[in-house]
Amino acid sequence: MQTTDTHCPYCALQCGMTLANGPDGLAVTPRPDFPVNKGGLCQKGWTAADLLGHPERLTTPLMRDTKADVLRPVSWEAALSRIAHEIKTVQDRHGKNAVGVFGGGGLTNEKSYLLGKFARVGLQTSQIDYNGRFCMSSAAAANLKAFGMDRGLPFPLEDIAQAQAILMVGSNSAETMPPVMQYFEAQKENGGALIVADPRRTPTARAATLHLQLTPGTDAALANGLLHIAAADSLLDLDFIAARTTGFDAVRRMVNSYWPDRVERITGVPVKALTQAAHLLGEAQTAMVLTARGTEQQAQGVNNVLALINLVLALGKSGRPNCGYGCLTGQGNGQGGREHGQKADQLPGYRSIKNPAHRAHIADVWGIDEADLPQAGVSAYEMLDAMGREGGVRALFVFGSNLGVSAPHAGHVQKNLDALTFLCVSDIFLSETAARADVVLPCAQWAEESGTMTNLEGRVVLRRAAIDPPQGVKTDTEILTAIAAQLGRGRWFPSSCPETIFAELGHASRGGAADYSGISYAKIAAQDGVFWPCPEAQHPGTPRLFLDAYATEDGRAKFHSVLHRAPAETPDAEFPLYLTTGRVMAHYQSGTQTRRVPRLAALVPEAFAEMHPTLAQKLGIDDGDSIVVTTRRGEATVKAKVTPAIRADTLFIPFHWGGASCANLLTNPALDPVSKMPEFKVCAARVERRVLPPAPADAPV
Ligand code: SF4
Repeated sequence: MQTTDTHCPYCALQCGMTLANGPDGLAVTPRPDFPVNKGGLCQKGWTAADLLGHPERLTTPLMRDTKADVLRPVSWEAALSRIAHEIKTVQDRHGKNAVGVFGGGGLTNEKSYLLGKFARVGLQTSQIDYNGRFCMSSAAAANLKAFGMDRGLPFPLEDIAQAQAILMVGSNSAETMPPVMQYFEAQKENGGALIVADPRRTPTARAATLHLQLTPGTDAALANGLLHIAAADSLLDLDFIAARTTGFDAVRRMVNSYWPDRVERITGVPVKALTQAAHLLGEAQTAMVLTARGTEQQAQGVNNVLALINLVLALGKSGRPNCGYGCLTGQGNGQGGREHGQKADQLPGYRSIKNPAHRAHIADVWGIDEADLPQAGVSAYEMLDAMGREGGVRALFVFGSNLGVSAPHAGHVQKNLDALTFLCVSDIFLSETAARADVVLPCAQWAEESGTMTNLEGRVVLRRAAIDPPQGVKTDTEILTAIAAQLGRGRWFPSSCPETIFAELGHASRGGAADYSGISYAKIAAQDGVFWPCPEAQHPGTPRLFLDAYATEDGRAKFHSVLHRAPAETPDAEFPLYLTTGRVMAHYQSGTQTRRVPRLAALVPEAFAEMHPTLAQKLGIDDGDSIVVTTRRGEATVKAKVTPAIRADTLFIPFHWGGASCANLLTNPALDPVSKMPEFKVCAARVERRVLPPAPADAPV
């Protein structure tokens, strides 16, 4: 039996697993010696081998027969030739920036890097962004503002177990990445307190010492209220504030207006619980605040995170072991995917495309004139919103994303996809987005190709290839180099080998914030992962950031005075409820993979809307009824799931399904002004029982 140590294809924990290829087929077992999951896996990880050899796997390029409007199998030569023709035609007619690239936070570091280079050097377009814009961009922007550097967790997971108090806001880790809960269980066994802020009483909230069931969209008010109590009750660390931060005085004055009664009215969290939370955090010797998409995916997402960072800093719970603010990234390479150039405004190594010195460095690595390096493009939703129209992209490449399901206001995005002159999608299955394409390219998946991922701790891990891709399938790096060659830009893309690309990435990142230049495949294998920054071959990596200084110009962390502002939409007479969205344990992102794994599909076969029994009774809805949820963007038909675990004014729909039950048909694309993160987590909605049309008189009964 052949075995390979590798990593899960799904979330940001990047659990270590061994893939065995034996006479009975492929099977996954967790790696007990891998220092992140320590032998744990969730259902998605256990069933990951089901994706390999799946009967629906794409194994040949497809091209749209425009007369019959169907996709038909073609050769790679025909597909590449069509792509080159379409790109040349669109760029000749509308300019270089009429071609866009949409990447994904699940792509390896090598693919993320090559995709950014492909857009700017291969296509010579500024128009590239990725679905990580929809995930971690608000936390990233807040991290940069407050600390001068963005790494999701600035400490290893093992620090969680040693923190005496933790406030977790907008995360349901017990369902989204269950193996991480072992650290919170250890924290509890060590006598620590866990406070969870979430509109739903999730499994994570049930595991907490204290649950703050806040009104959706009131996170900044909650944080400001906790800081108000901490200041009033002398819980601040004035020495830390004086020695290691700037800007506290304005924040201190600002939180004066967030007195507890007012914050209870805004957030719905009782004063007693607010006071208890502030004291648990303030009186602990060590404490952390962790956030995830619940607080970040809002039009105030950056301010929400900054308000929580203010709390951490004011309590002196930062810049030392077992303390700090951290973002729990979601997608498999949510961290690395945002460091190496997929973002519209960013270059490899976390460099800025607007900074002349950064541009010059990358242009030199890429062997082009700095003047030929495009400027910043627009953010993900802005690109999708303008697609197919004057000034927008006319042709789009999609790698590692099912944006027809995962983008906000999905109905609008689907129409815009159809308005494109040319859409090319690389995927392993015919996703909802691929089904709309003009050309579909079958690509390799996790265990069929090597590459590095950077997990939520900033630990760079090596996902090793265990088997060959099916006949007819290419890796994404082979696809990108082949397209570049077809476009006559091949000399800038000499290799599709992941290890060679990683070495170039390391060179490009040298001296940047996310410095990978001291990391190699051999070093990752020897250390079971390397934390960036790692600027030299002899450097061991950096598990903990900010112990001596922050990455700001003066080395101090910055407070930001941020007010609570209402979400872009609040309930009214027409749409009287809040709608929020999220994940369930059995599925991942748009479900392209997990909906095709029979064991996962059987666990949660269809979309549902959670609603409180009081609301259900008022509307005459029973558990399991077919219901229609409507917002200003559209409607979705799902099953009612009546549960006391949600607020009576709020609905929750998981976003893993397409078609008529797609949650993103409903979500609001209102953007955070800084991060351009859409407001997935709050909008106004109404719900009613689905009324079936009367059966025809002659229908059989
Ligand atoms: Fe681990 Fe996440 Fe994979 Fe589950 S989905 S096994 S938590 S990496």
